[in-house]
Amino acid sequence: MKKLLTFALAASTALTVSAQTFPTKPITFVVPFAAGGPTDTVARQLAEAMRKQLGGNVTIVVDNAAGAGGTIGANKVARAEPDGHTLLVWHIGMAATAGLYRRLPFKALEDFEYVGMINDVPMTMLGSPKLPANTYRDFEAYIRANGGKLNLAHAGLGSASHLCGLMWQSAVKLESSMQTIAYRGTGPAMNDLIAGTVDVMCDQTTSTTSQIEAGRVKAFAVTTKERMANHKLLKDYPSLHEMGLRNFNLTIWHGMYAPKGTPAPVLEKLNTALRAALKDPEFIAKQEALGAIVVTDNRVTPAGHKAFVAQQIDALKKVIDAAGQYAD
Ligand code: ASP
Repeated sequence: MKKLLTFALAASTALTVSAQTFPTKPITFVVPFAAGGPTDTVARQLAEAMRKQLGGNVTIVVDNAAGAGGTIGANKVARAEPDGHTLLVWHIGMAATAGLYRRLPFKALEDFEYVGMINDVPMTMLGSPKLPANTYRDFEAYIRANGGKLNLAHAGLGSASHLCGLMWQSAVKLESSMQTIAYRGTGPAMNDLIAGTVDVMCDQTTSTTSQIEAGRVKAFAVTTKERMANHKLLKDYPSLHEMGLRNFNLTIWHGMYAPKGTPAPVLEKLNTALRAALKDPEFIAKQEALGAIVVTDNRVTPAGHKAFVAQQIDALKKVIDAAGQYAD
């Protein structure tokens, strides 16, 4: 009995110490897509904001563990040491892959501790500068007429760009679907869209706004139900709903996750730093400039975010089942 008590005391002291001294080494944000894309941008901006909250001398590195629509990086975090030093920054794929992959090596709701949600991000329908269309109507008509000959770029099965492409093609009821080309992230896919090697892509505004503004790609519509009336650049683009795709509404979100078993005091420290980062005016301004909306509601709590992901898994499964396409 005495032995047990001593052990319990030692274990709880170890937990307290680990929460007080955490982090004891550099923290890694695993981004499951290539560098230069939207998820990478969100993670790097957040790393800067959270570093300030965790203490100026804390180092946060970004590991782009890309491939298989984000599932490789997610699995890497699910199997990492549960000490709070390895964290996943992922998006809607956390919920979409649960419906798209029938054999996943991890379970979204069981194999992670939820730290909290980061933001909501709209997407934009883009075309290469070589496409003859300049308005959404002409774009849709052109794709309808040439569907099977055109390429749609995405970041792998289960990525946001893949989901958006699926939903758009099913909403416009294309007779022959576009060929899809999978990349390790939409960062590299964007380079090919600019070069005109691929024709169409739907991607988050966190990386598309700068390319649209520079005129390197053509933008046709946003995927939120209403247009982005308050954004200085995006306000000029119609929503797909407005263009006749009734109730089309796709918003991408990002969240932060730790391996299952990460001690509660460490998770609390991370959640406190995350919430403070989401109130940092510099971070908010950077995100808003890219069309993203930083989360202020209950979804920033571990339990609130987990409940939201559970809802999203159910909602997206319906969309995926209706499209009838799976990753495996
Ligand atoms: N935007 C990408 C996606 O379609 C991923 C990325 O590169 O951030 O999921």
